[in-house]
Amino acid sequence: MSNTEVAPPEFASAPGGTDAPVEVLTPRAVPLGGPRAMTVRRTLPQRARTLIGAWCFVDHYGPDDTAASGGMDVPPHPHTGLATVSWLFTGEVEHRDSLGTHALVRPGELNLMTGGHGIAHSEVSTPDTTVLHGVQLWVALPDHARDVPRAFAHHVPEPVTLDGATDTPATARVFLGSLAGSASPVATATPLLGAEILLAPGARLTLPVDATFEHGVLVDRGRVTLQGQPLERGELGVLPPGRTTVEVGADEDARVVLLGGPPFGEEIVMWWNFVGRSHEEIVAFRAAWEAGDERFGEVEGYVGRDGRRGAAARLPAPALPHATIRPRGNPTHER
Ligand code: MN
Repeated sequence: MSNTEVAPPEFASAPGGTDAPVEVLTPRAVPLGGPRAMTVRRTLPQRARTLIGAWCFVDHYGPDDTAASGGMDVPPHPHTGLATVSWLFTGEVEHRDSLGTHALVRPGELNLMTGGHGIAHSEVSTPDTTVLHGVQLWVALPDHARDVPRAFAHHVPEPVTLDGATDTPATARVFLGSLAGSASPVATATPLLGAEILLAPGARLTLPVDATFEHGVLVDRGRVTLQGQPLERGELGVLPPGRTTVEVGADEDARVVLLGGPPFGEEIVMWWNFVGRSHEEIVAFRAAWEAGDERFGEVEGYVGRDGRRGAAARLPAPALPHATIRPRGNPTHER
């Protein structure tokens, strides 16, 4: 996905406070661009928090009626210094990238695209898709891995039943890292956890987790509790490191996405679709994309709904802000 928000408004989190057991991040609506564009609910980044582990971008969208919204049609655009996770609940998206990957993104299947030094890709919902519903997540690459060659990984996790769910079923699809005895084979540059969890009404989960990780729970549907703190649909509850369990409950049918990782420990500069370390680097990435530099490669086979293809279909970079783009780090650096 391409980020249209290049001068993001900044919202404080609620309830906030360093002693709050759960930091509740509320989403803001961001249009993806185009005349009838889909709108996403963005919970990361925001002023109060830039990262959860290496997770640096959380967009939640749908269920979206593609007949009304036009669905998703994102022309070839670049990424650097990050990896993207496309995770769908409903619908299907055709992915093409400058590695030559041509893949269908389907519900319950992980597609991890590593931008590293540079990649370009396009994403188009398929003609049969009537409802689009899912999340688009970005992972910041640490300094030692942020210049790696582009890569693409696909994995279909087996659903696992979670213990501690009393008599009520709860299942997880662990797409990155490990949880409840289920481990993803997909390698990442920093330790990560990513899992979709379905809770039946009355489910109460006590999930053993890595105490060195901070965690986030994004509510897709249903009203859930995290450590007893109610979370509404679209909210992202964040827990600091130091916990050996994460407690999630639901009185109604619910779905959440659990994210985690050790605090990233590096400040990053995020602008448009790039993650770097300085304003000057972002300026150089943008100039390289605008010049058609080979660092991003070519996306073969994309044809826009307006019929554009090849270089004419590439998404142009937005104008740079007049101000210097400042590095941002973990909240411990900002508070
Ligand atoms: Mn993208």
